[in-house]
Parts: sequence; C-alpha cells; structure tokens
Amino acid sequence: MEATSKFSKKMVECSLIDKGTVKPFKTGSRKNGLPVWDKDRCIKCGVCYVYCPDGAVQRLDDGFFDVDDKKCKGCGICHRECWFGVICMAEEE
Ligand code: SF4
Ligand code: SF4
Repeated sequence: MEATSKFSKKMVECSLIDKGTVKPFKTGSRKNGLPVWDKDRCIKCGVCYVYCPDGAVQRLDDGFFDVDDKKCKGCGICHRECWFGVICMAEEE
C-alpha cells in the first residue's frame, strides 16, 4: 500500500523556493535585529537551525551555528526556540 501525506511535493517546493525572503518581498527593516549566538552555552542541538523559516541559520565547521545575514529577516524564531537562551537579537550597526 502506497504511503500518503496531506503535504504534496508541490506544496513543499513552494515553501522552499528562494530561501531568504527579506529582499525580494521587501518586508522592510529587521526590526528585531539579527541573532547573535553565545557559543559558551550552546549544546549544538540544532533546534535553531531546524526552526529558521528562511534557511538563515548555518552550521559551522566546529558544529556551532551562526546567521547568514543575507538570508535572515530578523523574525526572532531562533531566539524564541532555543532551549537555553543562547541566542539574543541584537540591533544592526
Ligand atoms: S531571526 Fe533567526 S529564525 Fe528568523 S530568519 Fe533570522 S536566523 Fe532565521
Ligand atoms: S537551539 Fe540553542 S542550544 Fe541548540 S544549537 Fe541552537 S543555539 Fe545551540
């Protein structure tokens, strides 16, 4: 019996097109700022990476995470989802 899902391939593709939406959709300034990681407290669980809707959390070679500021729209989801309060939203200079 073939497995079924309520999420079609087409729907998934639509949600993944052109990661990093702040520029093409002109959503305005990043009012919440950019996320900043406190590596000393991070356990490298990857929750921030999974929850970012724009693929803006990148995994570094040392296993920690950081932001790709060209993709980040400053929504603060990574900040809210981190278990240990590792990520702060900081104003851009
Ligand atoms: S604030 Fe965090 S969750 Fe939101 S787009 Fe930027 S990196 Fe992703
Ligand atoms: S969710 Fe928090 S603890 Fe987990 S990898 Fe991201 S910053 Fe580190």
